Amino acid sequence: MRKLLLTLALLPSLVFAQDLTFKQISPGIYVHHGEHKDIDVGYGGDICNLSFVIGKKGVAVIDTGGSPKVGAQLREAVRKVTKLPILYVINTHVHPDHVLGNAAFEADSPTFVGHSDLASSMAQRKENYLKNLATWVGTPALGNEVIPPSLTVASSKTIDLGGRSLDLTAYPTAHSSTDMAVIDTKSKTLWTGDLLFIERTPSIDGDVIGWINAINQLDKFKGTLTVPGHGSVTTDGHTALGNEQRYLSTLLNDIRAAIKEGRSMEETIKTAGQSENGKWVLFDIVNRRNVALIYPKLEWE
Ligand SMILES: [Zn+2]
Repeated sequence: MRKLLLTLALLPSLVFAQDLTFKQISPGIYVHHGEHKDIDVGYGGDICNLSFVIGKKGVAVIDTGGSPKVGAQLREAVRKVTKLPILYVINTHVHPDHVLGNAAFEADSPTFVGHSDLASSMAQRKENYLKNLATWVGTPALGNEVIPPSLTVASSKTIDLGGRSLDLTAYPTAHSSTDMAVIDTKSKTLWTGDLLFIERTPSIDGDVIGWINAINQLDKFKGTLTVPGHGSVTTDGHTALGNEQRYLSTLLNDIRAAIKEGRSMEETIKTAGQSENGKWVLFDIVNRRNVALIYPKLEWE
């Protein structure tokens, strides 16, 4: 353990790999922050947080970015810091901005890790992702970009990097149907995947009530650092989770009230969640999508 700490203490605090900058946030843990852009024509594939964790035996990567090119830059950053093997590539959930860099690690033969529903969710979305990749990042798909997990997590599992281990927890449908959180037990760092957004408007592709429950679960962990799926790393995960819960509860209550008053979805899109406008980046575009997803489900409550 002491030897690992001594080795990690000598690592660089900043690593540059082409367009990406990685910061060492804790000994042996590096994070790159993606930009707050919407997934859209030419968004470039670099919008989520990308991380890697170094143990005595090898490295785990957490999320790989939105294109093989971004994945390759992440791999280059790992290689600039350590020669140790890349043992695990962890995907926190199915969304393309988090998984389409997986192919860059294929030659390392890592164990790909994800939620027990990730493989089927990837299979369902694969065709769409590959079709859209050219529009999203400007280079056509080769077809090998979607790599499903070979190690799956139904509730919880621990993986060992040598001198440090990562606890993985799968969640019932929340932000998506494939959310998984990661905890480095050594530094007490928590990766929430997209169960937590900081700065950027939380975007839902799952179940709003399930997501609020997941936030309550995550808030029980008393860690040191929290790495959200999008936005800055924080030492105050409790406040960040509280902000997100406030947004989601506001949205839920506003939509429920609108349905009760007989207002249409089109009307509700203009009003629901508006008290949160100005508190989040990309609010107009994401909030309207959220209402469009939640309203039809709540109509049948
Ligand atoms: Zn995301």
